[in-house]
Amino acid sequence: MAKIILTGDRPTGRLHLGHYVGSLRRRVELQNTGGFDEIFIMIADAQALTDNADNPEKVRQNIIQVALDYLSAGLDPKKVHIFIQSMVPQLTELTFYYMNLVTVQRLQRNPTVKQEIKLRGFSETDDGSDNKAGTPVGFFCYPISQAADITAFKATTVPVGEDQEPMIEQCREIVRKFNSVYGPALVEPEILLPDNAACLRLPGTDGKAKMSKSLGNCIYLSDPEEEVTRKVKGMFTDPGHLQVSDPGKVEGNPVFTYLDAFCRDEHFARFGSCFQGKKVSFEFRNLEEVKAQYRAGGLGDMMVKNFLAAVLNDTLEPIRQRRAELEKDLPAVWEVLREGSEVAARTAQKTLEDVRKAMRIDYFNDSELTGLQ
Ligand code: ATP
Ligand code: MG
Repeated sequence: MAKIILTGDRPTGRLHLGHYVGSLRRRVELQNTGGFDEIFIMIADAQALTDNADNPEKVRQNIIQVALDYLSAGLDPKKVHIFIQSMVPQLTELTFYYMNLVTVQRLQRNPTVKQEIKLRGFSETDDGSDNKAGTPVGFFCYPISQAADITAFKATTVPVGEDQEPMIEQCREIVRKFNSVYGPALVEPEILLPDNAACLRLPGTDGKAKMSKSLGNCIYLSDPEEEVTRKVKGMFTDPGHLQVSDPGKVEGNPVFTYLDAFCRDEHFARFGSCFQGKKVSFEFRNLEEVKAQYRAGGLGDMMVKNFLAAVLNDTLEPIRQRRAELEKDLPAVWEVLREGSEVAARTAQKTLEDVRKAMRIDYFNDSELTGLQ
């Protein structure tokens, strides 16, 4: 069986470090190691509209931003198909058929949907006024449309962050249900989570559980150097670490979670001077030594933050440089999206034909039914 990847992002803003470690960095590796037959990367504009219906301009403007982030992070359009969801109308038709295979109650149990409804402030009742608006039906159903996105490409592997686990499980249930009712037309996908625990769900700079565009606690891939440094300096750390001499906590401290996600031993040779101060200085060779000192006390947050800012800026600099180049020719980026969308639509069309055949609603191909030759 062909090994196929489908994954993507909502164009609700530029991409941030959470996207990078949760999925984007992995995609670039998988593209370059060549273990997959096809890789589809979707800019999920239709999904973004499910909770931005009154702000389509935001979604429209962010399509190119996400595409720029993809290409500058190293996705190569010669190796992957980057496409816009709404340019593949077959996905909508698949969603419509899958809706019959999922109950309202099953969707209500989906923990990510529950959490996101809360986060967005959709109320449980809808009294018809603007200040008590309930959950849009489209938003409630987006796990089903996500199942359509994945299965349309017969994806075997979906590299995403941990928040997407319930979505992939829902998709697998839809596939099993479809195949048992109509016959085996669909492929059950596997989730591919980041192997580094810090990357499963990168926290926000404010210490909240998840870095998320909707929470405004992000460091963006395209943030300039000074902005990254400023955001790192303002980061939440261990609130109990008041004096430099106090023992500090590493667990649940986002500065250390970011270091777990980005720091490599080689960074100590290059940025070790961040730990050299007037009053105290340290010679660390790896992150474990930094953590041990922080736990023992005597290591100030500012030194650790300066080091983190250096590590992040080192990671982001090549991405920023590629972005500056790509921004000089935006029509070329749109052309990548157009070509990717054409390939995606052809692929999804084949699956849709398989689905219609399995469901026996491909009437005009059925001469037994119609008597047509
Ligand atoms: P929104 O607030 O609009 O939902 P988001 O920041 O949650 O945006 P998505 O577009 O929903 O981003 O997520 C795209 C992909 O990035 C998914 O695979 C998701 O798992 C991953 N991802 C997003 N945020 C993080 C994070 N903080 N840590 C790890 N992975 C993440
Ligand atoms: Mg999200």
